[in-house]
Amino acid sequence: MPERCPVCAQKFELEQGFWFGTGYVSYALSVALSVATLVAYWVLIGISWQDNSIFIWLGINGALLVVLQPWLMRVSRVIYLYFFVYYDESTEDLPEK
Ligand SMILES: [Zn+2]
Repeated sequence: MPERCPVCAQKFELEQGFWFGTGYVSYALSVALSVATLVAYWVLIGISWQDNSIFIWLGINGALLVVLQPWLMRVSRVIYLYFFVYYDESTEDLPEK
């Protein structure tokens, strides 16, 4: 992760430990993704208490979350940064820092 935006030189880590909060965003994304895969699995394959289908979903979902972790981490940082940094038109003509 670069220290500053290559285009506008916006500092990314606004304060010490700023990225700590992305854990909560990442958690929310992971839960949303898990609910989505559960619903998709339920509709497409079906879940029954008489077999191990819930554990098969659990395994698939766990593997999917591990594989998607690098992407989830980056998306979380982008979403978290959007909470705190706004587009400011007046800084557009500033010289490069
Ligand atoms: Zn920028």
